[in-house]
Amino acid sequence: MVKVQELLENRIVSLLENPDYAGHPLSEGLAELFERYCEQTRQIERIAHISDRYQEAERDRHIDTTTRYQRQLRQIAKVMRISDRYQHMLRDMNERLYWISSHDELTGLPNRRQMQAHLKRELQQLAERGGQFCVALADLDHFKAINDTYGHDIGDKALAAIANCLSEHIRGYDLCGRWGGEEFLLIFPHSDTRAAEAILARLHEVVGALVSHQLPEQIVLSVSFGLSACHKGDEALDQILKRVDGALYQAKREGRKRTVVV
Ligand code: GH3
Ligand code: MG
Ligand code: MG
Repeated sequence: MVKVQELLENRIVSLLENPDYAGHPLSEGLAELFERYCEQTRQIERIAHISDRYQEAERDRHIDTTTRYQRQLRQIAKVMRISDRYQHMLRDMNERLYWISSHDELTGLPNRRQMQAHLKRELQQLAERGGQFCVALADLDHFKAINDTYGHDIGDKALAAIANCLSEHIRGYDLCGRWGGEEFLLIFPHSDTRAAEAILARLHEVVGALVSHQLPEQIVLSVSFGLSACHKGDEALDQILKRVDGALYQAKREGRKRTVVV
């Protein structure tokens, strides 16, 4: 089609340039017509060119939008990854903070605050459902002598070893925490004093037989317990603690390495 058009155009150009037809009225008309034809062809080409550029611009715009969209997606994914890491970090920090605030660092046992919370919960359950639970207070015998003989460092290791020993030899649902210094508090849920006493008897044995590669071979450890049961949900916490403390004091007076039940 383009070829035919080109041949026709060439033919008209050569006709118009032919001196034989110069001055012929048809030649003038043809020249005028050819001029208009050329002008219209140029306009069509201009319009086609504009249309092509517009389509190109549209395509570029589309490509740009896609690229921008993909870039934004990548940025969002990155922000999400950072946010995920940040949340993990916050969660870890929260867990760590919770652990620090509720545990004793030396022994890894629940600390006094957590044990008090456990006691309150036990009392609450007692008030709601009845039953009973037991509380025991443990105090290491002649612990000052351990520190004096072997040094504070060995004293610390002995404390950690005893803490481990106590918590390993209670039942899964019993609780053992560091009450302070060389004292430990034990809670025996749903238990009478007979059941609790049996567990404490085992604890006397295992503490007495405790062997640790971190402690001098000749070290001899023992513990005294004050034990009491709680039947009333409305009993004040201080009252219970005073009772077990009294029992512990009596165990010390009676020669240590024993349990006194009140
Ligand atoms: P008793 O049989 O009458 O309980 O004698 P005791 O020597 O154990 O009692 P006392 O209250 O006289 O001494 C307790 C000792 O426990 C004194 C203190 O230095 C030691 N102690 C308390 N907390 C720690 C600790 O975290 N690490 C070490 N190494 N010793 C501790
Ligand atoms: Mg003490
Ligand atoms: Mg002591």
